[in-house]
Amino acid sequence: MTMPVTIRTILEEFKPEGIRVIVTYRCNKRCDFCFQVGHKSPILEPEKLDSIFHQLSEGGLVPTYITYQGGELAILNEATKYFEVGQRWFPQVFRQSLTTNGTAKLGWYKKCKMYGITHFTVSLHEPDPELEKKVKVLASDGFFAVRVNCYIDKEHPDNIRHVYQFCQKNNVQLTLCEDLRTGETFNSVEYLADLLDLPECHVDYHKHQSVVRVPDQGFMFWIYKHLDNYDYNNVIVLPDGSLSMTFDDVLKGAGCDPAWGPKSRYLVTGESAIGRKDVAAS
Ligand code: SF4
Repeated sequence: MTMPVTIRTILEEFKPEGIRVIVTYRCNKRCDFCFQVGHKSPILEPEKLDSIFHQLSEGGLVPTYITYQGGELAILNEATKYFEVGQRWFPQVFRQSLTTNGTAKLGWYKKCKMYGITHFTVSLHEPDPELEKKVKVLASDGFFAVRVNCYIDKEHPDNIRHVYQFCQKNNVQLTLCEDLRTGETFNSVEYLADLLDLPECHVDYHKHQSVVRVPDQGFMFWIYKHLDNYDYNNVIVLPDGSLSMTFDDVLKGAGCDPAWGPKSRYLVTGESAIGRKDVAAS
């Protein structure tokens, strides 16, 4: 079987460590800070994903993780079919994660364990007793990790404080993510240190991302800085079945306007305030 050149290029030149599957940009929520415009989107067909995973597997890819995300994957009737495809071609992958807005039923999330999902990332941006209850149950339900993503919405600092305290109290991992609309001069570390009365923050350079880690909070806590980020070495499967090695293509596919905010501009155009030029897969 001849591999399409894009897959061969990706495997030979980039040697990806993981796979990110953007199943669709469609979503049942409309968050203010969402970079997706209109949420009009194709839906990746499970058969198409099966073919892509088959070729990646035949090409020798041994991913260390698979992440499934949207939009919102859980709104699709046959959402678990994508996980089955992952299990079929990459059964050795321990870390299979789902990023979700948490609106599916608790029972559906629990069922994901049977399809190999080990990690959840749940969006929580404001007080939401029902969702918080789900997060607490899932965090103690045998999944390897349940993490909360919370956008740094400067217009609602009380919401950030609430989510932070919820995660700290319940020992749930937390990532505070910079809003793409945030100006390039915004210092999220300083802002959060002040807002949350944090002790000294340390910039901690991990392998693929620079994150700010604040130790001694009793739980895992990161501040996710967009300008330095999105350079995970993973192959991204887009809803139309095309492949990419850069998150910029995810933003472009979602209709994110480069003029929307400085950070989205850098990400969509590949320019960078720190002089980095992202490499697009050919
Ligand atoms: S849940 Fe996520 S994808 Fe859906 S509108 Fe909110 S930010 Fe966008």
